[in-house]
Amino acid sequence: MKVSELGEFGLIARLAEACAKAGQPSSLVIGIGDDAAAWRASGVQLVTTDTLIEGTHFSLTHVPWRDLGWNALTVNVSDIAAMGGIPEQALLTLALAPDTEVADVDELLAGMLEASSEYSTAIVGGDIVGCDTTMVTVTLIGRALADERGESLLMTRSGAQAGDAIAVTGHLGDSAGGLRILLGESTGSAGAAAYLKRAHLHHRPPLAIGQMAAREGVRAAIDVSDGLLQDLGHVCEASGLGAIVHAQKIPISPALREAFPKDALSLACGGGEDYELLLAAPPEVIESVRDKADVPIAVIGEMATDRQHRIRLLAEDGGELPPPGAGWDHLRGAAWRR
Ligand SMILES: [Mg+2]
Repeated sequence: MKVSELGEFGLIARLAEACAKAGQPSSLVIGIGDDAAAWRASGVQLVTTDTLIEGTHFSLTHVPWRDLGWNALTVNVSDIAAMGGIPEQALLTLALAPDTEVADVDELLAGMLEASSEYSTAIVGGDIVGCDTTMVTVTLIGRALADERGESLLMTRSGAQAGDAIAVTGHLGDSAGGLRILLGESTGSAGAAAYLKRAHLHHRPPLAIGQMAAREGVRAAIDVSDGLLQDLGHVCEASGLGAIVHAQKIPISPALREAFPKDALSLACGGGEDYELLLAAPPEVIESVRDKADVPIAVIGEMATDRQHRIRLLAEDGGELPPPGAGWDHLRGAAWRR
């Protein structure tokens, strides 16, 4: 059955039923089905939104609908994680071609509900429009953590100080490597290819690490979505600082090294869509975050005084390396994708 046969209101009823079955938070007063959703809120609220467009951000040839639904929510969870916050309610706006299969929309919603369950959020409303291209927009609302006096514990791009250690969670470049394999590059073992493709299709932002870091006293963070050096550049500019990054300390997975021995560093520095966290804080604060974390956290450099907000990438011998690869710019496109 096509969505045009079911119609807008039939599809909304179908989505509402699936969301109701998945459960609703106790703070929700009115969910899907009225003119607006309503819920009880307290403290400092967070809101973020992200749009995925077919042909620009994904291709339905390579991305299963279920993964598209999972990622549509998790890319937004990543932004809330970067603030150290708690995600709560999501709005889903879908632009669909009339000949889209209802079964595909069911899969998309199933993936999004899986992510909602994993990250304790609920879909409370949205919009459906007809369009030639598939487009998925998720708006995610959350709240900031607060200390015992009720002061919010936000991590921001502008919170870094000179001398702060710079740390990143997980491994970088896997998602970009996975995309190259999905686009047809045949390289490395089947095991490495499967691992890298999974990293591209199924983002797992470390939400709990963001919250723990905020509690431990980290005040500067960003999620690595457009490439390490580009996102670190945003922290440098917002904080009025520069940074030094030691290339050999950037966490690169064995799978990425195996599949892309020449390009691994470039993919890790500028590939993008990693959805890991970059934290900047005094070295002892980063150490206590590392001690409590259940995922690898690598210290890759330090924030430095620099009026031009430069990032210096250093080789093991201390020599400066040219910046490998450009990060993702939504209006320009990344160099390696052109
Ligand atoms: Mg972000």
